This record gives sequence, structure tokens and C-alpha cells, in this order.
Amino acid sequence: MDDLRNDQLDAWDRENMFHPSTHLAQHARGESASRIVKSGSGVHIEDRDGNRLLDGFAGLYCVNVGYGRTEIADAIAEQARELAYYHAYVGHGTEASITLSKMVLDRAPAGMSKVYFGLGGSDANETNIKLIWYYNNILGRPQKKKIISRWRGYHGSGLMTGSLTGLELFHKKFDLPLDTVIHTEAPYFFRREDISMDEAAFTAHCAARLEELIAREGADTIAAMVAEPILGTGGIVPPPAGYWEAIQKVLEKHDILLVADEVVTGFGRLGTMMGSDHYGIRPDLITIAKGLTSAYAPLSGSIVGDKMWKVLEQGTDENGAIGHGWTYSAHPIGAAAGVANLKLIDSLGLVENAGTVGRYLREGLTDALGGHRNVGEVRGDGMLAAVELVEDREARRFYDPAGKVAPKVVAAMLSRGVIARAMPQGDILGFAPPLCLTREEADTIVSAARDAVAEVLG
Ligand code: PLP
Repeated sequence: MDDLRNDQLDAWDRENMFHPSTHLAQHARGESASRIVKSGSGVHIEDRDGNRLLDGFAGLYCVNVGYGRTEIADAIAEQARELAYYHAYVGHGTEASITLSKMVLDRAPAGMSKVYFGLGGSDANETNIKLIWYYNNILGRPQKKKIISRWRGYHGSGLMTGSLTGLELFHKKFDLPLDTVIHTEAPYFFRREDISMDEAAFTAHCAARLEELIAREGADTIAAMVAEPILGTGGIVPPPAGYWEAIQKVLEKHDILLVADEVVTGFGRLGTMMGSDHYGIRPDLITIAKGLTSAYAPLSGSIVGDKMWKVLEQGTDENGAIGHGWTYSAHPIGAAAGVANLKLIDSLGLVENAGTVGRYLREGLTDALGGHRNVGEVRGDGMLAAVELVEDREARRFYDPAGKVAPKVVAAMLSRGVIARAMPQGDILGFAPPLCLTREEADTIVSAARDAVAEVLG
């Protein structure tokens, strides 16, 4: 497509394309920046204007093995030539989907039974909620249907999954959340209301808030809680010490299922294969997507635990085949990408690298920015990091969102050739580079962040 001119492409884009999470009017009028991305290699992307950028967010924290991996491209091409598509209904499989299901279960925490493949994180969470409702109907508990999620959680942007998402932007003017979804406190220690609480007290507070919510709604009306092991889009916020143990105690007491949404954390991002293992989570269902194929092809999964699986089997014995499926469930091209991707993660030692270089990146950010008067906190885990900017550090006063401080810092980083993400609720710089990041590349991210903060905030 080299005969296409950049200005022509830009005009067609603004005339024809509806972009997700975009100010539609400004984009159509040509008032906001756009970028036409052309190629990628390792941790870099290149655009049609010839800019080479270090992608410090791995796309949308998904290109975990980095760009330009020929092993995955070849596997996709081979699969497309041999069998581009066949469905997975009524027991049909392909070599790729069957192999991948075994590889996924081999990497899942103990107690998991089967994996259902979808296309993206949103539809996988949608599947999970349907399976949870089916489960409680089979168990004769038709009232037990509400789903708890957390403020600042991110679980997708469909009707149900947009409801589970606890970010205002995804609700406003969409008539969401649906009333089957109820939200509880975000485990966001830095933003705790009562500053006198230490981590242990804040953990106890979060568990108590969950207990209160359950008492108010009635445990017999609540089916499950959906949560990310570490808050991602809501601000890259690791849980306070003891959080998961305390929360699981409450859920188990009230017979409420737990869905670990591992769309970001699955397959290495925290320096462990799965985030559930990292934090001692014992989920009934696990959502996977992004890192499953490193985004070389769309594919997601719902990993179903033994307890639920037994009931689903009982349900089909009683009612016949399960009435759930997508045309593209277990798509062979996605599955072939997944197999090649998981092999690459193993052979390159990327899970370990995420842990060691991720720590190095966070330490670098802390050294460079931790003492800045407008940096409230540098935090993260594995290959995830965040720098939270504040107007007044001592008073813990946040900026007025209208000032767009984090987007300005991100723009200043971009002018230095590094992509970071301004997280959607708060002035928070987010970092989630490919898991293959080297120490030298981490240094480049850190110096761009330091210089950009100095440029914008002095
Ligand atoms: N769950 C989590 C934790 C996510 O971060 C995301 C996307 O960022 C999703 C679900 C939704 O995935 P998708 O955008 O593929 O629908």
C-alpha cells in the first residue's frame, strides 16, 4: 500500500472510521492528533511519518512478546493455508485449538478444568457471567444472580462488561451500569479516605465494605465477584498486603464465586505465569485474552474451575447442549497464534524477564521521579508501573482533571520517542511494556519520563 499518500489516508480515516475511545467530533473535524502505524519490531513501532517509538504500553498491554515475531506470523500463515476456519460447535476441534487448550490448562492454577475460547476480553467476561447464571439456575438458586465488581475495575465495554467496569467514562450516557451489577470499594491504598490507616487497616476496611454490601443486598442474591488481581486501567494499583486473603474469606463465607479477570495479568505480566498464583487467588473462573496470543490474532478464554464444571455438565445432562457459542469461538488462526506465542514466552524466558526487568523499571522510575514534589506515588508489580501525579504531595491534593496534566506529560514523552499511557481516571502515567524489555530500553523509558515531567511540571 505504498502508493497511498499519508494525507489521503488521514482524510479517509477522518471521513470513514469510527474509532474506539476517541473524541468523535474532534477527530472527524481534524482537531486532534492521529497516527497511522505502519510496522513494529521488538518494543518499537514505526508510523507512516517515519517516527520510531518505544512502545511503553505494548499496544494496550497486550503485545507481550514484542512486535515482529516471525515465529507467530509463520504459524498464522501456515494455519491460514491449511485451514483458515472451522467452527468448534458440537465437538469440533482443530489441532491448534486442542493443543492450545492443553497448554492453557497446563499453565492455569490448580483446580481448573476446561477452557472456552472467545475473541476478546469483553466477550470472555460476558461468557463468564452467563456461565455463572446458568450455574446458579442448575443449582436451583434463581435469585442468586447479582455480580459484584470494584470501582476502578476494568472488565470490558459491552453491556454487562461495561457495567462491571467501574470507571465513569464507560457508564456515562450509556445507561450503565445495569442493575444486576453492584460495585464495592477499590483497593487503592494511596487514595484511601482515611489517611491514618496503614495497609493492614485499609485491607480490613475493604473487606468490611464488601461485607456491608453483601449484608445490604442479601448474600442469597449475589452470585459472584469479578476482579483483576491488580487494578489495571483503573490506575495500575497493586492490592494492599493481605487483600486477597481477606476478600476470599468473605466470599467463601457467603458462597459467592470469584472470577479472576487475568486479561492483563495472564501469561507472565506480573513475573509469574498467572496473576492468581502471584497473589494467592483461588478463582472459580479466570478470564484470559491479550497475553494469550500477544495480540497477534484476537483470542480470549474463560477457564472454568472444577466446582463450576461439574455443575455445567449436570446442566447439559438435564437440559441438552449448552446454548452458548460464537462463530469464531476457538478460531484456528487465533489458536495457532496462541500456541506459537506461549512457546515463545517459554523459550525466551519472558515470565522471568517481566519480573526482573519490571522491577528494574520501577526502581528506575522511583529514583528518577520519586522525590519530585508533584509525584505522589510510584507503584506497580511485575512489568506494570504507574506514576501518580499530584498537585500537592503533602496535602495529597489531586489535580483538576480539566488541566490534563498526565496527558501533557505523556505528549512530552512522545516527543522524546516513548509511548506511555495517561490512565483514564486521575493523573496517572501508566507503563506496561512488552515482557521482552531490556534494561537499556527501561532506561530510555525512565529518562523520557523524567525529562517530560520536568518539562511540564518543572
Ligand atoms: N479485562 C481487563 C482486565 C482488561 O484490561 C480488558 C481490556 O483492557 C478487558 C477485560 C476487555 O478486553 P477487550 O478490550 O479485549 O474486550
